[in-house]
Amino acid sequence: MSTSTHSSTASPVPRVQPGNAFDELIFFSRSTCSECFAHLRDIEHVAVEHGAVGTRERTLAFPTANAVRGYVSDRRATEPKTFCRECGSESGRALDRTLSQREAVERAHRLADRLDAMDVPAVEDVLVHAVRRLKSDERIQGYDREIFARATKLAIQYAQR
Ligand SMILES: [Zn+2]
Repeated sequence: MSTSTHSSTASPVPRVQPGNAFDELIFFSRSTCSECFAHLRDIEHVAVEHGAVGTRERTLAFPTANAVRGYVSDRRATEPKTFCRECGSESGRALDRTLSQREAVERAHRLADRLDAMDVPAVEDVLVHAVRRLKSDERIQGYDREIFARATKLAIQYAQR
């Protein structure tokens, strides 16, 4: 049985099928915003309050039932909510609206950055080009999630050639 002569010391790449990569690594990931694909940081440490003085962040200091740090509301510790620092989406959920082509292309670049940060090989030019092309097709341009999933698959497959 032959083995590769060059050994790799690189960190292991997440094992994921290209067709599932977007959903598994991005869309349903708690550490990535589904709206803008930014990395969600400080999930358990920061909450945003809406009040008379506007919206602000504050550090959480009270343990909740799940032993994460929460904040006191109605005399009990409440689970923190996380808001994306980039786009403001609550818990990094995707918003219920369709992106313009320009917005989608901007997000495609950030998506490529996130994949790169996770050591998932993907070709950014392929990803961005695919998103631009799919968003220009009137029949499918409203299906943003499917478009990003398809473009991610193509970009990963291209990197695996
Ligand atoms: Zn976001």
